[in-house]
Amino acid sequence: MRGSLHCEHNEVTSVIARTARNAVTKQGEAIHYNRHLTGQAIAMLELRPNCEHCDRDLPPESPDAMICTFECTFCRDCVDAVYKGVCPNCGGNFEARPVRPAPLLEKYPPSTKRVTRQ
Ligand SMILES: [Zn+2]
Ligand SMILES: [Zn+2]
Repeated sequence: MRGSLHCEHNEVTSVIARTARNAVTKQGEAIHYNRHLTGQAIAMLELRPNCEHCDRDLPPESPDAMICTFECTFCRDCVDAVYKGVCPNCGGNFEARPVRPAPLLEKYPPSTKRVTRQ
């Protein structure tokens, strides 16, 4: 009993692993493919590349990137000095953006689309 269950599980896992590996070779579309392969949406932060207010760069590892619940993204300076901790787009609060571990950035790349309020 346990043996056959175990086998079945292994088989499914290896099929997923195989297809996922193929998908990742298509640069930049890993998430799109993954989503279709597993039939599950992957909830993931966009990791926008800049501050919406002053347009300074906020790389994925930046400790100064702040996001609201809708991922409006600002630098810590603008959040403190300009917006006093309140998102100008949605009125919500900000939290420091979690840093995605570097080894995962290749498979789950940050957004390259700059968003500004101007
Ligand atoms: Zn800023
Ligand atoms: Zn917002």
